[in-house]
Amino acid sequence: MPRINEHFLNLRAAYLFAEIRRRTQAFADAHAAARIIDLGVGDVTRPLPAAVVRAIHEAADDMARAETFKGYGPYVGYEWLRGEIAAQDFGPRGVALSPDEIFVSDGGKSDSANLQEIFASDAVVALMDPVYPVYADSNVVAGRSGPADASGRYAGMVYLPCVAENAFQPALPDRHVDLIYLCYPNNPTGAVATREALARWVHYARANDAIIFYDAAYEAYIVDEDVPHSIYEIEGAREVALESRSFSKNAGFTGMRLAYTVVPKQAVGRSADGRAHSLNALWARRVNMKSNGPPYVIQKAAAAVYTPEGAKQVRALIDFYMANARVIRDGLAAAGFTVYGGRNAPYIWFRTPAGVSSWEFFDRLLSELHIVGSPGAGFGPSGEGYFRLTAFGSREQTEEAIERIRARLRP
Ligand code: PLP
Repeated sequence: MPRINEHFLNLRAAYLFAEIRRRTQAFADAHAAARIIDLGVGDVTRPLPAAVVRAIHEAADDMARAETFKGYGPYVGYEWLRGEIAAQDFGPRGVALSPDEIFVSDGGKSDSANLQEIFASDAVVALMDPVYPVYADSNVVAGRSGPADASGRYAGMVYLPCVAENAFQPALPDRHVDLIYLCYPNNPTGAVATREALARWVHYARANDAIIFYDAAYEAYIVDEDVPHSIYEIEGAREVALESRSFSKNAGFTGMRLAYTVVPKQAVGRSADGRAHSLNALWARRVNMKSNGPPYVIQKAAAAVYTPEGAKQVRALIDFYMANARVIRDGLAAAGFTVYGGRNAPYIWFRTPAGVSSWEFFDRLLSELHIVGSPGAGFGPSGEGYFRLTAFGSREQTEEAIERIRARLRP
């Protein structure tokens, strides 16, 4: 028998959303008549924008003709898409990027899991707590964490608690760290970072030779004028920050799979002998080795998001989900819950009733009200005592879920 990577044994038994799906399925199997409303995993429910669907059809036709057929594409994505990304996602924010600083991939999940590969195996990792679980898990299996304690906390990682008491804004680490995961707008708390807060992080990273992985998967949901959309709006960020975005939650691409990560030319790390190395070159080398690029058809579909028609349709999708967010926010508040998020993000974060753990609340919501949410503890130890609902459901189901909560649940 070959030896396994024993760091896998340090992972929690199941990935959070897999465990939510498992419990939901078990309940559904045992209660066939229950009308379960799923506001848990955070998958979108609206169909793709019409401009995107048209682009898929056209791209399929390209694949059907010898003259326009495409085989392997560039490993890092087609330049026509990377050019649109640079021009339209960053240009208007005063950020000039060149297409070769943009790496198109099959998802923010894989990018956020894979980025740690280009850093030393003894790099010290800091992460927001609670946060999207992939950052922690990918570093656990890379051997950077050691085992977890009973609360799920890894001794080898630096947690940056984000709780109501600090308005979900983490303090800077109190020790040296090498790699910092920031997620804004945040999944799960819905919090955003001010320009000043982001500038503090950039300053910390520059002063401590750290790199920030900035996950802006929910950037399109920002409505407050003074909230930065990209970390590169902060002076000095190019040397110390990598930024990831996804087409999943703005354009409904969760089943299509497309995202990108920006690795600026100025970002560097060092080898043991002290020499500087371009992170852009390292990441390009890694992508060239491990990817043949996302499908042509999907990249064509993504390019349609940047047409005037596509952009308008994407905006309408976001507006739709944010109307759901208001329904949830207002309904929970009216039911007496203390509610956060749901303004610049499609997630609503609220406290569980006193003395009820987040997994107990999950089970209760499922068994009594037939509603699926996400327990805060699944996003990190500081998520205990909180719960997340998503705005990605249908309007009818969202309204019905809130009606069930208002009628039958008290904090
Ligand atoms: N980053 C964050 C913060 C997310 O919440 C998610 C999905 O929920 C992702 C990345 C993954 O996005 P994708 O569908 O592009 O893999």
